[in-house]
Amino acid sequence: MRTYCSDVEERNVNKYGVNELRKMFLDFFESKGHLVMKSFSLVPHNDNSLLLINSGMAPLKPYFTGQEIPPRKRVTTCQKCIRTGDIENIGKTDRHGTFFEMLGNFSFGDYFKHEAIAWCWEFLTEVVGLEADRLYPSVYLDDDEAFDIWNKEIGIPAERIFRFGKEDNFWEHGSGPCGPCSEVYYDRGEKYGCGKPGCTVGCECDRYIEVWNNVFTQFDNDGHGNYTDLSQKNIDTGMGLERLAAVVQDVESIFDVDTIQALRNRVCELAGKTYKEKHEWDVSIRIVTDHIRSATFMISDGIMPSNEGRGYVLRRIIRRAARHGRLLGIEGDFLANLSSTVIEGSKDGYPELEEKKDFIFNVLTQEESKFNKTIDQGLNILAEMEENMEKEGRTQLSGEDAFRLYDTYGFPLDLTMEILEEKNLTIDEEGFQAAMKEQKEKARKARKVTNYMGADVTVYESIDPAITSEFVGYDKLSWESDVTAMTTEEAVVDALTDGESGTIIVEQTPFYGTMGGQCGDTGVIRCGDGEFVVQDTIHLAGGKIGHIGRMTSGMIKLGDKVELSVNPAGRADTCKNHSATHLLQKALRTVLGSHVEQAGSYVDAHRLRFDFSHFSAMTPEELAKVEQIVNDEINAHLPVRTSVMTLEEAKKTGAMALFGEKYGDSVRVVQMGDFSTELCGGTHVANTGDIAVFKILSESGVAAGVRRIEALTGPGVFAYYKELEDRLSEAVKIVKATPANLAEKLTHLMAEVKQLSSENESLKSKAARESLGNVMDQVKEIKGVKLLAAKADGADMNGLRDLGDQLKEKLGEGVVVLASEKDGKVNLVAMATDSAMAQGAHAGNLIKGIAALVGGGGGGRPNMAQAGGKNPAGIPQAIAEVEKVLEGQLK
Ligand SMILES: [Zn+2]
Ligand SMILES: [Zn+2]
Repeated sequence: MRTYCSDVEERNVNKYGVNELRKMFLDFFESKGHLVMKSFSLVPHNDNSLLLINSGMAPLKPYFTGQEIPPRKRVTTCQKCIRTGDIENIGKTDRHGTFFEMLGNFSFGDYFKHEAIAWCWEFLTEVVGLEADRLYPSVYLDDDEAFDIWNKEIGIPAERIFRFGKEDNFWEHGSGPCGPCSEVYYDRGEKYGCGKPGCTVGCECDRYIEVWNNVFTQFDNDGHGNYTDLSQKNIDTGMGLERLAAVVQDVESIFDVDTIQALRNRVCELAGKTYKEKHEWDVSIRIVTDHIRSATFMISDGIMPSNEGRGYVLRRIIRRAARHGRLLGIEGDFLANLSSTVIEGSKDGYPELEEKKDFIFNVLTQEESKFNKTIDQGLNILAEMEENMEKEGRTQLSGEDAFRLYDTYGFPLDLTMEILEEKNLTIDEEGFQAAMKEQKEKARKARKVTNYMGADVTVYESIDPAITSEFVGYDKLSWESDVTAMTTEEAVVDALTDGESGTIIVEQTPFYGTMGGQCGDTGVIRCGDGEFVVQDTIHLAGGKIGHIGRMTSGMIKLGDKVELSVNPAGRADTCKNHSATHLLQKALRTVLGSHVEQAGSYVDAHRLRFDFSHFSAMTPEELAKVEQIVNDEINAHLPVRTSVMTLEEAKKTGAMALFGEKYGDSVRVVQMGDFSTELCGGTHVANTGDIAVFKILSESGVAAGVRRIEALTGPGVFAYYKELEDRLSEAVKIVKATPANLAEKLTHLMAEVKQLSSENESLKSKAARESLGNVMDQVKEIKGVKLLAAKADGADMNGLRDLGDQLKEKLGEGVVVLASEKDGKVNLVAMATDSAMAQGAHAGNLIKGIAALVGGGGGGRPNMAQAGGKNPAGIPQAIAEVEKVLEGQLK
């Protein structure tokens, strides 16, 4: 057991170290049936709401929401956490840092308040040995259940239990699961107190500090403040390990607990300064001490310094640490040196720190020296800018200047801000953002060259040209090799981590890169916890093979020995399709003639496409013949042999070479029995029998003299017929037939449809004739001319004209005006017979005279006119107006 020198009052507590306390906690909850889980990575998995894991509960969210099933209903962890929300204030006081470890025990629908409270008490008092009379529980105002447990079951007197409101003791995050909390406070004694009369639990001073928080997730908030009981109640507890250590070791702050103190001392040693001598120094000492912990852990989880997202958080942390080291007078690179003290102190709980030591030091030193190179220059420029500001009487640095510092000298905005703040100067942040946006636009425009994947070509151009890869996958689907280069979509990097997309290059790969019409392999690359899903494989300039994809967990870094596994089903199906194109080419030459040359091809796991020279569309008979030949050669089970030889030798074998293709000195020849011999670098089946079956889907023209065949093989053919079968049985079901009598049934149905529609036609015209009878009652006589003006509902312009013609006939001589409303619009038709026209009637002028009443316009000839309108409500008025207008026209 360790002991620590301190001049504080003697207490009856064993002064356990940070590493001991972590182990004690996990062992204790293991003895209570909990599964001890390793700390999750600081990089959130499948969670875009967080940049970095910031609590013990955060990585367990899917278990709380029920999205995933936990490995056990009781889980305990010590989780590494980073919070950078108020990074500007870190160091100013000793209350907190960006990095901390959180102890937690969790119940997913298992135990609840009784056990959670009892075990919390047992751990604090019996395991750690804190004095019970220094501990004060608090509960949520209305939570009598928790109050009673503390009071009656644990035996804490009622006056020592505090009730707090929603702000302190209710955990809630918008709508969804929520619930009351119960915290435990520890009285550190008068020496930490403010001495004010009301000083007790809840006071702002450092005397009573919260060591444990139990969250009882028991309600569901519907978002409107209505709470209902959750069917599955959860327990989520949290306790800061460093804070517990500060209490147990009875030291002033987290910066004084054993492991962090060792680190702090190392900072002081390097700087030649003493802690607690000068406030200004203390701030810098605490910043360096805290930030080097965060940086070490972040890098060990694969986060790399960058200008975006969590990479930027890391860059900022490293640069702040570097700068405050310089303020303390430390010369040269020192971060890796300090990081080794972090690793020494924490490797007990986090063995990955020791494993990735060299990598961590490397990343830190690179970033630090990059920063050091620019900082002096940047500081000089900033000093000049400050001078100018003073001359011009400004206290605000312009956005362009701040951006110039950022862009040219690598000064992060917040660093510039921090330096200026010390002199009571500010920055035009909006101006900075505007300048940044403008530059990004420019960069986007300048970066138009992309490959077919849409990836940035220039990324690959930045890879060391000396790096090459070798394809070893003709007969192997998995292989071990070293990572020689990696990129994100934007930059060459040293590591890829959970959620990032990018490209991995290795020395030797079993993955086939897209080439010669054959699509690249898919699969997975693994290293320990790290998993990279390969979505495509391509050839890059300089003999490199790039595996393009996304990290789905953990990290993979440069130099790692990785396990590369090609998706076997995808490869097998691709091979079937590729080998079939060789058989197809020979079959086409056999059926169509030797003018057939390959003009292009595409094969992937799902289908094949073969373009060839030929000058007319193939007949169904030719297609059937070609398909038959290919299937015969499949059934002949021809062995497929590949050999590498010189081009001269290959020509002697009669190999078909691609027209216009350049070949190297040695070529690969693929032979299928005596039937087909081709030069080809692709992957193939071992025997044509493996293709199983071949089916042509279509033949079409793609250019002058170039035809295209699309076809399927093996499982693709079965899937194709299965789909046809499904469609057939659906159709059969609809017409209540069987596949056997479907055609007969459809013939009957078509005849029936024809008969019914002719019946329908005659019924419709009968109905129209009948409705005319009634309309004839509305005929009026104006100055001896018969007028029929009526509304015919639902008719379109054509129907209205037909109706008009019929009515005109029925009328003998006279004028017909019809109006209809259809789909909210008005149609008008006017017609006049010869004798009506002789008496002065003019259909065109008639319609002109009434169209305005239905919100429209129109006109036409004297015998026939039509118009449209937008106001159906005006129809009765328009019809009434007809009489007046016609009366005016007639002699
Ligand atoms: Zn106080
Ligand atoms: Zn081929």
